Parts: sequence; C-alpha cells; structure tokens
Amino acid sequence: MTPQKITMGANGRLNVPDNPIIPFIEGDGIGPDVWGASKRVLDAAVAHAYGGKRKIEWMEILAGEKAFNQTGEWLPAATLEAAREYLVSIKGPLTTPVGGGIRSLNVAMRQELDLYVCLRPVKWYKGVPSPVVHPENVNMTIFRENTEDIYAGIEFAQGTPEVKKLLDFLTNEMNAGKKIRFPETSALGIKPVSKEGSERLVRAAIKYALDNKMPSVTLVHKGNIMKFTEGGFKNWGYELAEREFGDRVYTWGQWENAKKTQGEDAANARLKSEEALGKLIVKDVIADNFLQQILLAPQDYSVVATLNLNGDYISDAAAAAVGGIGISPGANINYLTGHAVFEATHGTAPRFANTNTMNPSSLLLSGVMMLEYMGWNEAAALIEESLATTIKRKRVTIDFYNLMHDATLLKTSEFADDIIRNGGMMS
Ligand code: NAD
Repeated sequence: MTPQKITMGANGRLNVPDNPIIPFIEGDGIGPDVWGASKRVLDAAVAHAYGGKRKIEWMEILAGEKAFNQTGEWLPAATLEAAREYLVSIKGPLTTPVGGGIRSLNVAMRQELDLYVCLRPVKWYKGVPSPVVHPENVNMTIFRENTEDIYAGIEFAQGTPEVKKLLDFLTNEMNAGKKIRFPETSALGIKPVSKEGSERLVRAAIKYALDNKMPSVTLVHKGNIMKFTEGGFKNWGYELAEREFGDRVYTWGQWENAKKTQGEDAANARLKSEEALGKLIVKDVIADNFLQQILLAPQDYSVVATLNLNGDYISDAAAAAVGGIGISPGANINYLTGHAVFEATHGTAPRFANTNTMNPSSLLLSGVMMLEYMGWNEAAALIEESLATTIKRKRVTIDFYNLMHDATLLKTSEFADDIIRNGGMMS
C-alpha cells in the first residue's frame, strides 16, 4: 500500500484511498493522553474491519503550545497548508494563546479553510450519567453556522476613535443613533448574516437529514427580534428547502399556507400525511424556546440548523443532557471543498495533563465521525458499539466513575484497551 492523499472528486464526493494520509494535531494539556488512546482504537478498528486492507497513514502537524515551543509560532503556515492539502484532519484540544495575535487557533483554522459547518451530534450512550430523566430521548445533530454572525470578529472597543466614527455614521447617516441607549460609553459589534452563508448551512443540514433518513430539520433562530439577520436565516432556509428539495420536504411554511386556505384541521391532516409519506419536515423554533425544548421535548428534534452564537449555546446545552464535555464530538466541515477538521470539543484541562486519567471519548467519537465522513462506516460502527458496551459495563474514566454506582475506574489508556478488547479488535 502506498500512502495517498484524500481528494475531492468532480462529483462532489471524496476519493478515499485505502491508505490515506491524515494529518493530526495531538493537542496540548490532556491532548497527548486522549489522542494516544483514540489513535490506538481508530487503528485497531480499521485493521479489524477491513482485514488489514485499509490503514490510515498518520502525519503529525503542529499547532498550539507544542508548535510554539518547537517553532515559535502558535499556528505555523505549514500546518494550515497540510490541512488544506490533505482535506481531512483531526485535532486534540489546543491552548488558547493569551494576549495579542491570534484570538483562537480554532477560529483561525475555521476561517482559513472556510469550514462553514460546525457539526455536533448529540446522543446518549446507555449508562452515561446524565442530569435529565430521559437522556435516551436526546438524539440531535446540530449544524451550527461557523463563519458569520456576531462571531465575525467585527467589534470596536468603547472610547476608541473607531467606535466614535461608527457611532457618528449611525447617528448622522443611518438615523439610528437614538437606538443606542448610552452612546458615550458603548462598545459596538456587527452581526453579518448573508443569504449565501445561510443557504449553504441549511442545504448541508437538509442533505444530511435526507441521506440519513432523519425525520426533521429545525431552523433555530431569534427572528422575532432580529428580523433581518436571524429572520433572514429562517426565511432563506424555508425558501431553499422548498426550491431545492421540492417534494422530498414539507415545511411549516407550507403548513401555514394550508391553514390559511383550508383551515387548521385540514392543514394538520396534510402535515400528518406528509410525515407518513416519509417527507422530511422542515420547521422552525425561536432560540430561547428551543433551549427549553432540549429539556422538555428533545424527542421532537433530530437535525438542527442554526446561526453561530445560537449554535454555540445549543451545542453545549444539548451535550450536557447526554453526559457533557468528556464525550461530545465535533467537526468543522466545508462540504463543497471537502475540507474537514474533526476535534474534541473540550479544552486542554491543563491540571490533568499527563495524568492518563481523562475521558478520550470526545476525541475518539470525533474520529468515528471522521471515519463516517470517509465512508469507512464499518470501522466507525465497530468503535461506537464497543464504546457503548464498555460504558454499559461501567468500566469508565474518572469523570463518569464519580457519578456512577459500582463502576470500575479505568485510566485513559485502559479505557482504550477495553474498547479494543470488547470490539474483538485485538491483532
Ligand atoms: P476544559 O474543557 O479544558 O476543562 C474544564 C474541565 O472539564 C476540566 O477541568 C475537567 O474537569 C473537565 N474535562 C475537560 N475535558 C475532559 C475530558 N476529556 N475528560 C474528563 N473531564 C474533562 O476548559 P477550560 O479549563 O476552560 O480551558 C482550558 C484551556 O483549553 C484554555 O486554554 C482554553 O482556551 C482551551 N480550550 C480549547 C478548546 C479547543 O481546542 N477546542 C476548547 C475549549 C477550551
């Protein structure tokens, strides 16, 4: 086998060779522990699932503290170049540099590679300690817009010449000065939300839902207050659903039209029959209500599409219901170019660096997402099932151990050994 690059085919599908080169960033703090464990499980699963015919050729690239110590840079150009060239990469948590320069390495990578989807699947594995009564009802895949919104980084500090200039413009040319309650002491931020950006996010969410036979896509927004940005997102999302996905979807907009013309009972009956036909239902919920719904009726939601800030809150709130930080995976993806960075969603937990005690599940499950993205579903399923078995047997790392009765405490590396053993993946 000669190691080769993953490339994007003309048909918009990835070409994945049997021996793909995949760059990895080990991560800082607990990164080496959780990455070491995850890598072992990923390799064992691939070897077992494909009888040695497939193998990942890992290529280390540097970022974060390790990069800074070795090269003097937090995010060397070579790292971005490799992530660009090899399309698919995976990373552990990175220390955020304190003071000037790069605000966040993760944000920098997302912007450089235009990774417009932050994908966060949230589901419960039997036995994982949870603060809610029915965590088994949570099974959501969150598509968070990753490049726009108040996160664009257009912010001006209070008292600066820039903020004064912007205030003058708003007052004199936009007639909006009166809306700013304390102009002398205000900082200002800008919230760009585009039709293009909203459409590519909603398109990705709908495609994913259709491909995976999921029942609904929910557009979560604050369009009741921010009519043109958040409301735009909702409207553009509905329009796109009807225009591009035609009779494969049924939207609440269509339901509302039916209600106006035929009355509520007829509209409800139509909605039921569209559901029965297996149509994907596209609906919307206001963000504050949605944060309640995560707790009250999570079973009503499967794929969620939302803007950047809402997505940040919703991802973590939903993750908390299924066991939180140690087990939630994530990915940042551009479905058009194929670029994807899979990552642990927790930080570096520096206090626990090199203790071999932390839970590797977040990074490991992001590796599972990576295998699925590559089409290596058999290896992905093997890991997921074996991880579930290991947790069900109450053989867990300290974070879960502290919340469970009669559990057996495992080190990070022992947890990986158990997953490999339970999945029959020993070589
Ligand atoms: P953190 O996620 O590192 O840790 C908070 C707490 O969560 C830890 O003390 C630990 O108790 C628990 N925890 C985290 N990961 C765990 C795991 N795998 N298993 C079990 N328990 C786990 O958050 P923080 O302390 O706010 O941040 C530390 C550093 O990480 C900062 O430099 C921050 O900027 C950075 N950070 C990086 C990322 C990223 O790279 N994606 C994300 C968040 C924070």
